[in-house]
Amino acid sequence: MSTKVEEWTVLSMLEWATDFFKEKGIPDPRHSIEWLLAETLDIKRLDLYLKFDRPLSSDELDRLRPMVKRRAQHEPLQYIVGFTDFMNARIQVNEEVLIPRLETEQLVEIIVDAHAPEEPLSVLDIGTGSGCIPIALKMECPQWAVRGIDISEGALEVARSNADDNEVNITFDHGDILSPDSIDVDTPLDIIVSNPPYVKPDEKDLLEPQVKEYEPAEALFFDDLETMYGSIIKFAGQHLSQQGVLYLELHEKYSDEILDLFDRNSWSAQVQKDYDKKPRFIVAKRS
Ligand code: GLN
Repeated sequence: MSTKVEEWTVLSMLEWATDFFKEKGIPDPRHSIEWLLAETLDIKRLDLYLKFDRPLSSDELDRLRPMVKRRAQHEPLQYIVGFTDFMNARIQVNEEVLIPRLETEQLVEIIVDAHAPEEPLSVLDIGTGSGCIPIALKMECPQWAVRGIDISEGALEVARSNADDNEVNITFDHGDILSPDSIDVDTPLDIIVSNPPYVKPDEKDLLEPQVKEYEPAEALFFDDLETMYGSIIKFAGQHLSQQGVLYLELHEKYSDEILDLFDRNSWSAQVQKDYDKKPRFIVAKRS
């Protein structure tokens, strides 16, 4: 950026940084600078378009400059600004947690649409990360008793802080689904949900640098999907109530494999597609 700071306006910054991000191979270059500039000026992205001639002060440039540098190194926007929106919740994110995806909002919607909000249902989210799933569920259905578990203490810290910020009461505990017997459950659960790591490590090279170099590997990658989903099925078999329902997100390439796993364990399971028409979720009950 030039030292003649007085020359920068909203428009010249948008144009310069879009080109700069393009050169660096950053996905969505224009969107990236819009987001960072809106954050710096504390206005909505669309309002930038009403302020093209607004000059940028040296304070504003000092705040913007490090964010532009981080984005130029492919760091995800959400980690740079420190939060993302998920349903009605504002979710803080850092490198301890996966950035919530649109598909996962859809998973929450499938659950909310299928159950009565006024019933006192008990819900467990396995591998909760930022806590986005239980927080969104609790905001939609305040009568539900909602709990999240994760293997990562760093993630649990973020999840607890997100529950406080969104003013919902959720229990977050340490728990490893690969050792299902170590997870304490007092009473049968009505709903179990999980978006486990499901990208195979040999697919890592196909991911954008902003994903593979920044997001937590333990939240993304798992080689043996049969072990991962098999453990969840075993746990759900022990702890779901008779009418209980299991909701899972999955890799679009392996839905048949995972359906087969449910069949072999005598569950009745249905695959549902995401907005891109890819098989992305399983809704399952004991048959
Ligand atoms: N949907 C995520 C991605 O494509 C992966 C989420 C997961 O592994 N659970 O990056």
